[in-house]
Parts: sequence; structure tokens; C-alpha cells
Amino acid sequence: MLMSVMDIFETMEYGPAPEAAAPALAWLKERQPFGLFINNQWLRPEGDRYQTSVNPATGKVLAQVTAASSADVDAAVAAAREAFQSWGKTPGHVRARHLYAIARHLQKHARLLSVLESLDNGKPIRETRDLDIPLVARHFYYHAGWAQLMTSELPGYAPVGVVGQIIPWNFHLLMLAWKIAPALAMGNTVVLKPASYTPLTALKFAEIVEEIGLPPGVVNIITGSAATVGEALVRHPDVNKIAFTGSTEVGRTIRRATAGSGKKLSLELGGKSPFIVFDDADLDSVVEGVVDAIWFNQGEVCCAGSRLLVQENVAERLTAKLRARMERMRVGDPLDKAIDMGAIVSSAQLETIQQLVAQGVAEGAQLWQPSWRCPTDGWFYPPTLLTDVSPATTVAQVEIFGPVLVSMTFRTPAEAVALANNTPYGLAASVWSENINLALDIAPKLKVGTVWINSTNVFDASSGFGGYRESGYGREGGKEGLYEYVHPVWEQRASISKVSTDEIPIAKSAEVTDQVANGQSEQAGLVVSSDMLSFDLNVVANGGAQNEKYGTSDGDTAALPAIDRTPKLFIKGKQVRPDSGYSRNVYAPDGRTIGQVGEGNRKDIRNAVEAAHAASGWANTSAHNRAQILYYIAENLAVRADEFVRRLVQQTGCLHADALKEVQTALSRLFSYAAWTDKYEGSVHRPPMRGVVLALPEPIGVMGIACPDEHPLLGFISLVAPALAMGNTVIAIPSSQAPLSATDLYQVLETSDVPAGVVNIVTGDREALSQVLAEHDDVDAMWYFGNTDGARRVELASAGNMKRTWVSYGHRRDWLDNVQGEGQDFLRAATQVKNIWIPYGE
Ligand code: NAP
Repeated sequence: MLMSVMDIFETMEYGPAPEAAAPALAWLKERQPFGLFINNQWLRPEGDRYQTSVNPATGKVLAQVTAASSADVDAAVAAAREAFQSWGKTPGHVRARHLYAIARHLQKHARLLSVLESLDNGKPIRETRDLDIPLVARHFYYHAGWAQLMTSELPGYAPVGVVGQIIPWNFHLLMLAWKIAPALAMGNTVVLKPASYTPLTALKFAEIVEEIGLPPGVVNIITGSAATVGEALVRHPDVNKIAFTGSTEVGRTIRRATAGSGKKLSLELGGKSPFIVFDDADLDSVVEGVVDAIWFNQGEVCCAGSRLLVQENVAERLTAKLRARMERMRVGDPLDKAIDMGAIVSSAQLETIQQLVAQGVAEGAQLWQPSWRCPTDGWFYPPTLLTDVSPATTVAQVEIFGPVLVSMTFRTPAEAVALANNTPYGLAASVWSENINLALDIAPKLKVGTVWINSTNVFDASSGFGGYRESGYGREGGKEGLYEYVHPVWEQRASISKVSTDEIPIAKSAEVTDQVANGQSEQAGLVVSSDMLSFDLNVVANGGAQNEKYGTSDGDTAALPAIDRTPKLFIKGKQVRPDSGYSRNVYAPDGRTIGQVGEGNRKDIRNAVEAAHAASGWANTSAHNRAQILYYIAENLAVRADEFVRRLVQQTGCLHADALKEVQTALSRLFSYAAWTDKYEGSVHRPPMRGVVLALPEPIGVMGIACPDEHPLLGFISLVAPALAMGNTVIAIPSSQAPLSATDLYQVLETSDVPAGVVNIVTGDREALSQVLAEHDDVDAMWYFGNTDGARRVELASAGNMKRTWVSYGHRRDWLDNVQGEGQDFLRAATQVKNIWIPYGE
């Protein structure tokens, strides 16, 4: 029969196009059982401590790898520590050459790595070959550049030391690259634990480390179980940082396990990312987008577009198109170049997917799967669509981590945003519309770390990746990712002289009097006359009011008591009485009572958090306006500078010159953050596509800030001002010992156009109130500058909603110093970077 070309196209079945497995299998056979890679040597354990790695497409064992013990973890950490002595000081150019060599060798072994990854994980060779491995090499090239530039681009920063890195199985080598490349570029050494399901590419990577002659101990790779190797690494006292990628549940456990240890922590966790389709979107492009969003990598993707949110009037049309496309998808041998989806990583993962889908159906969802059958040799699952899903059901909330798309509808853009944000996660989102105005209006409203406009699941080393909310914190990639692997140089000094914040430097009262008696004091522009400073400590006890003489009817004069001024709490722009009805005394250094402040409690914190949420519009006010308000606070504070100086002397007993310096520095600091408000703006990346990526620092949201005891005014301003500058709203707990400098600010705030609820101040027991804030699920970040134990408690409690924390562990910071007391470290901690991908062109 004669066939036309059209007939051939329509009837032609794909033939299999398998990639050869033989070279990878030969490589495995030659090397297994694999030892542990420590100090550039392959160490074999005594006895039979091995675990197997299995091909999920066949269920057959691929290789045996060592199951390390906690003693092996000790050995690997010791090797990394030893290597850090020199690697941490190795010039950037030398590190750059090593990273460059790794990238080149990854490319030389690209096909072997692609095949190994597909065999071990079950993902299609098309994806490992064209996406995973090229991106892995790109990460090392990109970070070779940062190693070269570190000295000039990150002056004042040093590597953190030994880093423990733990990675998942879904993009195994890529996750390894995202972790090892920046760590090495910044001068750290590494102990990496691969995922137990997919250790093989990490072991090939170890061979590359050997091959390029990286100094021994710089990279150590130890296979083994989560319970032994993972936990030992997390708890190891000689590890300075943990970088983890995996599930939110394990991330939470790690947050708790590291609380109070002083380890830096970055967590790249799970997601339930929305894929939002407006009615003006190009639906044929949308269908291909959905394929890439949820059926890429069998849906085992942290940022998979697993929730399809469609505008109601196009939902039916889109569903029909999707079903037609699903019917033509191919699931099969991962090494077949013509398949769309490979195997699910394990039988356990397959069971989880099956159970969740069954639960979705039980909860009312409509199930649709293609008519064809999946292979039965290994662990396969077909592309699946659940419609009629209601937003509160399990399948709409829980990460399924499989090829299952749940679909919901919306009517208005506002409804789309509300639905999109209706999970505890915040990893990524995709927005589809031909109206760029609409898409760019929606992007900032989504509480996620990455937004792809008319695209999905695209990545590049130049653009940081990471989550909001329970999807974790920290970024991998981009310049922002580098800060996860460094710390300010001065912090090293602080950690040596660890002090309790209970020790506030206190000058003797005699010194204070002498100083005051010395008359006029001038310090760099702020002139305070002796008149302004001559005061009686007893008078100041009543809030600074001077006693007056009161004329009596018989012509005599009598002393008039000062009008009592007892500060309340400051919530929602108003001074309110504490719920407890109790006050706490504030004492001078010599033990005399100098005033009282409200004893805030749990309910006051709750009210303050509510007020801070209601003021969230602050984030959307223009940077110019926020700057104006910070300048205005400075202006109003300056008018009352003398009063604040007196208050500092009175509360802390410091020398008046020091108090003066504190007030003056606080004013300068307000100016600094007013200045930064419209200058800390982010950047534009040009990844390899037609388009741009906007990297925008966004406010974190509602922040709790527990202020230090030392420098009660400057400490408060130094923490609250950057948070406000970046658009956050704040609940501040002033110094417990010297809260009056903060309560004196109420009137300054009231007269400076600060919108109600943007700053809330709750006085009381800093430790108890910090605990309440750290436990509060509607607080997005918690800064704590108090003692070591408080830092631990805050970090521990923060795991509830994975709030961002920044704690001082009792280390003294010199608030008067502009390097330690202000700058971009504060701005970085007050923001999280959102990357918005904007492709363009017809
Ligand atoms: P997982 O169960 O959390 O495991 C991740 C890694 O942590 C594995 O190496 C695991 O070891 C180890 N581990 C487990 N429990 C541990 C513990 N208590 N202490 C120390 N280490 C422990 O996650 P997974 O199932 O491998 O990966 C899927 C998850 O990763 C999904 O939630 C996905 O969204 C997330 N993910 C996130 C990103 C991101 O960038 N945000 C990227 C990829 C994946 P074993 O393998 O030995 O169990």
C-alpha cells in the first residue's frame, strides 16, 4: 500500500532509541563495592557494612556502597578540618583553577554521568543528558568565577570552615553541584552525604576530585543511612555549617538538632507549587508547560508545578487538551531517548504516590489517567490528573512527589493569588498569561522564591534558588548563594571572646557626675550644652520631667512633684496597657528604681502580631516613602537628643559622652537605612535564554526582634531600622534591663508618620516574650540578640513554621562600629530574594 507522508506521520510508532548502559555497568563492576571517599582515598570498612543501590526501572541491584558508621563521619570531618587549614587560605585564583578543572572533567565524563544518573534514579536519559549534567558543569564554571572574584567582591568575609552537606535523590548530582561548588569557591571544605537511593554519581564525582588533584580532604563523600551518617553529620561539633536539601519534615528535625549549636544552616525543602493559567494564556503552550512542570523527572521535583490553577472560563478547554496530550505521553525505560517519563525512584515512593492518589479520590477528586499501561518490570506510575479538587483536601496541600497534577479553578486574579498562597510552602510558581502587565502584577504577590512567567522549571547558576516559608531558607546559586558559605571576618573575634549579654559596661555614678559637671561636650556635629545635661537623677526617674516651683496663695513656693509618666506598650500605633495589668520596675545601675514599664504577655504579643499583619501594606509603600519616614524618625529623635542622652546615662550609668555617642550613632544609623531603602534593590540576570531574571529582595513579612541589653537605644534602632527599610513590620522587645530608651521612642514614632502597626513594642521579660514570638506561626522571622540559651530556645521554637532566625548566641557585637553594627548583613537578613524569570520574544 502506498502511504503519504502525512499517513506515515500519523501512524508511525516510535521505535525504541536506547542509550547503551554497558560503559556505566562496566564502570560499576570494576569499582564496587564502593568505599568511602575520605582524604582522596577510598576506605573500605571492616565487616560487611554495605547497602545496595537499585535500578528502579528493573528492580535489579546496580552496586554495593559502604554504609558508613559515625566513626567514619568523625574521620571525614577530621580530614575536612585538616584540609581547611590550607584550603581556607588558598588564593582565589588557585581555587578557581580547581573548580574550572572539575567543570572540564564533568564534561569529559558527561555521558557516563548521565547514564549512571538515569540508571540509579530512573529519570529519562534525555533529561540527565540535556539538563542535569550540563547544569552541573555550569555550576562549577560559574563558581570558579566567584572563587576568582571573592577577594574583590566579598571583602570582609571569610569561609565558614567545615560544611556538612546532605542531598536528596531526585537531582542527585545537580544537588551535589549546587552545594559543593559554592562551598569550595568560598574556601570551605566539605563532607557530603549522598542520598541512599542514588549514591552512584556522587561516587563518580569523587573520582573526578581525585583525577583533577584537588587537595586531599577538601571534598569527602560518605555514603550511609540517614540515621547514622546524616544525624552524626548534623550533630558533629566540628562542623560549622549544615547545608541540607530534602523534605520539610527532615529539615525541621535538622533545625531542632542544630538549635543553639552556632552552626550556620541552609534548608532547601519541599513545595507544592502553583501553576497559574489566566484565560488569555496560549493554551497550547500551557499544555507543554504543564508537561515540563509536573511530568518532568516523573514529578519528583521540589518545585514541580503540581497545583494547576486555571481561570474558570478556560478550565474545560485546557483539561481536554491536557488529556489528549497525556494520552500520547510515553512512560518506559529511562535509557530510551524517546520516552517522556521514566521510573519512580523506589517502591516506597511508588506506594506513597498510590496512597495519596487513592486518598484524593476518597476525598472527592476525579481521577484521569491515560488508557495505556505502564511497564511492570520496575516501579512506574502514569501521568495523572485529579480534577474537582477542593483547596483544603490532602492532595491540594501535601507534596505528592510524583507525576500527579491536581487542578482547581479561580475566577479573579485576587482569587488566583489567594489559592496560590494557600499552602505552608513557598518554593516556586508559574504564571501563564499573554498580558505581561497582569503576570508582573501577580509575581510579587506570590509568596515563593522563584516565579516563572510563561515558563517553568528553568534553572541557571546565576539565579539563586530557594524557598519562602516552609520551603526553607538560604539560596543556592547567584551571588546571594555565596553568603551561605561565608561569615564576616570580625565574627571570628566575637566567637573567641564569647560573653554573656548580662554584662553591660557600667560606669560608676561618680564618673557620671564628674562628666556632667565638666560642662559642654561636643562630638562631631551634635552639640549638647551643660544646661541640657545638668539634671538630677531623681528627677529623671519620673520620665525626665523637671521639678517646678509652684506658687502658693500666701506667696510661698512649694516643690511640685513631676507628673508621672509610666510607659505602656506600643501596639497598632497606640499606647496600650499591658493585658497582664502588671508593671515591672526598671532599675538604675546602683539599684534605685527609675521607672516602670508594662509587663507584656502572650496576649499582647498576639495583638502586636495581628497589628503587624494588618500593616502589611508597608511592604508596598514606595522605597522613597519608607526612606522619608526613617529620616523623619531621625529628625524627631534629634530634637529630643538631650532627653535620650540623659535616659541612657540614667539607665546604664554610662559616661555621658558615651551616651551622646550612642544617640549620635543612632541618628546616623537611621540615615544609613533611609539611604539604603531605595538602593538595596536587587539585580538583573541574563541566563542562557531570551529573557531576563529579576532578582528582587523582598521583605520577609512580620518580624520579631529581641533587642540586646547593651546600647538600649542604638541596639534597638540598629535592628528595627533595617527591618523597616526593607518593608517588614516589626514586633520589638526592647532591652529588659534598660527598656526606657525604647519606650521614650513612642512619641517619636507617633510624630514621624509611621503607619499604625508597622512598629509594635512590647516591654517585659525578653526571654519569655521571645519564646512566644518564636513559637508564633504568623511570625515570619525572629531576630534574637540575647544570651546563648535564649538563642537556642528561639532556634528550637522557630522550627514550627520554619521561620527565619538570626541570633547572636550571646556574642557581643560592637553596635557603635559601622562594620559590625550596620550594613548589608542586616539588609540580607531582613529580606529574601525572589527570582522572576521573564522570557521574551515571539
Ligand atoms: P529526605 O527524606 O528529606 O532526605 C534527604 C536527605 O536527607 C537524604 O540524603 C537522607 O538520607 C537524609 N536524611 C533523612 N533524614 C535525615 C536526618 N534525620 N538527619 C540527617 N539526614 C537525613 O528527602 P528525599 O525523599 O530524599 O527528597 C525529596 C524531598 O527533597 C522532597 O520534599 C523535595 O521537595 C525536596 N527537595 C527540595 C529541593 C530544593 O531545592 N528545595 C530540591 C530537591 C528536593 P537517606 O537518603 O539515607 O534517607
